[in-house]
Amino acid sequence: MSWPPDYHLHTPLCRHATGEPVAYARNALARGLTEIGFSDHSPMARDDFDEWRMRLDQLDDYVAAVEHARREVPELTIRLALEVDYLPGHESWIRSLAKRHPWDYFIGSVHYLDDAWDVDNPHKLEQWRHRDVDGVWDAYVQRLTAAAASGLFDIMGHIDLPKKFGHRGQQSLAQLYEPFMQAARAADVAIELNTAGLRKPCQEIYPARELLASAQQHGVAITFGSDAHAPEEVSQDFAAALTLARSVGYREARTFQKGQKAARSL
Ligand code: ZN
Ligand code: FE
Ligand code: FE
Ligand code: ZN
Repeated sequence: MSWPPDYHLHTPLCRHATGEPVAYARNALARGLTEIGFSDHSPMARDDFDEWRMRLDQLDDYVAAVEHARREVPELTIRLALEVDYLPGHESWIRSLAKRHPWDYFIGSVHYLDDAWDVDNPHKLEQWRHRDVDGVWDAYVQRLTAAAASGLFDIMGHIDLPKKFGHRGQQSLAQLYEPFMQAARAADVAIELNTAGLRKPCQEIYPARELLASAQQHGVAITFGSDAHAPEEVSQDFAAALTLARSVGYREARTFQKGQKAARSL
């Protein structure tokens, strides 16, 4: 079995993950992976924006920790990346981040629906009671589509994140996401199969099969990510993700080196 790269790994700098990058890398190697990528939560322009990401003055430490893992585990190809929050108005900040280091790729993630509500935050579940579920999904997909069209990102992260705690709308997912799929295809942005959903109340990979099938029909490329916040989560449930990808017709995963795209067969 040859595994696709695990492109979604965190580090303790984001304040809610454990284990140094070297430990993630050793686990990846032990599980038979040949390539991984660190994509920890990127700093915001203001460090007081929230409390679940690295501070700006830690960005160099982050790069150093990934480079350290490269030296300690030379058998493994280790990519340097970030999971970057997309919020309208943050574009110039994201562009300036992109220039700071020779990143291999950026995962663009929508966590925030407005400046104060990160929809996946378990401490803010209460927000859901004040909102119309379909309205949340509409707003989420709108923001995600703008992110895909922005040209700032290589991969869109966990594209159906609002399902995390089980909030499902009435609308057809394929219809709801049609504008997003067109934007992703037009910008040639990949989406990820993110297995963390299997560890959450929704108990389902991000994205749902219906969305993945639609992505495949639109010609949108894919990557794989465990969204590991601990070394033992590296490549967790990749067998299920591979089976899902193949079942809707995918035959390759996209890879990145300094923003350059390549493909690896599945
Ligand atoms: Zn996280
Ligand atoms: Fe995320
Ligand atoms: Fe993540
Ligand atoms: Zn994530």
